[in-house]
Amino acid sequence: MRYLTPDDFRVLGAVDAGSRNHELVPTKLIHQLSGMRAPSHVDRCISTLAKAKLIGRLPGQRQAYDGYRLTGMGADHLAMRVLAKRGVLAAVGNQIGVGKEADVYACATDAGDDCIVKFHRLGRTSFRNAARTKRNYGRSNNKRGNPAKTDNTDVSSWQYLSRMSAEREHAFMVELHARGYPIPKPFGRQKHCVVMSLVDALPLNQIDTCLDPELLLEKLLGFAERLARDGLVHGDLNEFNILVAEDGTPTVIDFPQMISIDHDEAQEQFERDVNALVSYFARKFDYHYTGQLPDLQQIRKDLQEETNAKDNRIDRVVAASGSLTKRQLKELDQAFARSKAEERQKTSEDEVDDGSEDADEEEGEAEGDSEDEVHGSADELDDEHIHK
Ligand code: ADP
Ligand code: MG
Repeated sequence: MRYLTPDDFRVLGAVDAGSRNHELVPTKLIHQLSGMRAPSHVDRCISTLAKAKLIGRLPGQRQAYDGYRLTGMGADHLAMRVLAKRGVLAAVGNQIGVGKEADVYACATDAGDDCIVKFHRLGRTSFRNAARTKRNYGRSNNKRGNPAKTDNTDVSSWQYLSRMSAEREHAFMVELHARGYPIPKPFGRQKHCVVMSLVDALPLNQIDTCLDPELLLEKLLGFAERLARDGLVHGDLNEFNILVAEDGTPTVIDFPQMISIDHDEAQEQFERDVNALVSYFARKFDYHYTGQLPDLQQIRKDLQEETNAKDNRIDRVVAASGSLTKRQLKELDQAFARSKAEERQKTSEDEVDDGSEDADEEEGEAEGDSEDEVHGSADELDDEHIHK
């Protein structure tokens, strides 16, 4: 990032802005949107950005069309630039985590605090599968054979999903942190990136001896129960998303997939979270829990009786803040469901469907279908849109 000039970033921003309406932003438009006078200077910036792979052309479209798209790395850089300007991020260091749905880097805030930046990559693997089989991923209303035009309702790219995922995780974290839950402190979000405090602890799966498994498990079950009383099910509360400090204190991470206790799958996911924890402790630490398990049905009943519990529930507060529309929530839901289904059947190639009408036969769709190739580019919705 240090080698990029402010003008390079201006041009990168122009490609981003143009991406809202174009899969490939025509070079002419990049010139216009950059608002810079000297065309040769803009061309130099374009070439720098292309060499750094922050913008690119479409595979197979090299000659046919004069335009660029923002790459995933380009989107990362733009987001980091804004976070740096806002004084959230001062430096980015080593990668410390590669999850299925995120890349995590150590970093530092302007104030010198250690933090991490989590780049959400929701749907990254589905997208690769989809691209590989030349199948449309998500809904696309593009006109065939015109790589330049994109439709504003096209929600196909993983950049779009990742941005919603980050938005949701950040919104949940702000609420949870304000209520004193043992989670990292959220510092900010931009596009698909969430910045939060670094937890100096090991994931539970890397801990071989636990001094007080009884206490730890009780804390974790207590976490699940408290969360449910605040209206939410974590949905991925496992040994990879629980960090345990040297003194045994747990911190829970990874929240974008959380669902409301009113969600169709709430019961199933709650039980899975809780049962998996109990059996993990039995397997790993030979600790066999005999106490009462938190009971979601009972919690729901209790909540119905408490008259003022409703307005205070985090699922309601976050939904009411209107950060994501109902349609977006549904899309996000589907994306997580897809991702989970994939995890369950990793071996199968391309069984996972997005359930939309044009996820049709793989053959016979390919010719003239340039949008198949456009992965990770339709970054058309900016943060403002998501807020609406
Ligand atoms: P995902 O599992 O969706 O890829 P996570 O939020 O679980 O994303 O992050 C991936 C990994 O990064 C975690 O398993 C953990 O090792 C590390 N990590 C994430 N957040 C933090 C944090 N705040 N402090 C320290 N390590 C973290
Ligand atoms: Mg995780």
